Amino acid sequence: MIQQNPVMRICISCRKTYDRKNLLKITKDHKQGIMFQKGMGRSAYICKSKKCYSDSKIKKKLQKALKIILEPEFIDIFEKEITSHNDYPNKGI
Ligand SMILES: [Zn+2]
Repeated sequence: MIQQNPVMRICISCRKTYDRKNLLKITKDHKQGIMFQKGMGRSAYICKSKKCYSDSKIKKKLQKALKIILEPEFIDIFEKEITSHNDYPNKGI
C-alpha cells in the first residue's frame, strides 16, 4: 500500500500547520492575478475555520503574505470561495 506523505502548510491567520488539502490556497499568479487553489507564484494558505477567514485582519495578512494590494471586493470573492470549499466531511479526522 502506497502512503503519500501529506504536504503540510501553515495557515497565515492562526499559524497552525495543516495538511495542504485542508487549506485554501491563494496564489498571486504571474499572468492571471489572484487565483484560488491553482496558479503559479507566491502563495498563501488559510485554514477553513470561520475564525480565520472571517478575521477582520485577514485581508492585511494576505496582502503581506502575497506582497500585493487587494481590491476591496476581494474579500467577498474570498469568503464565497472558502465557504464553497467548506463542505468537506469533518467527521473522522
Ligand atoms: Zn487558521
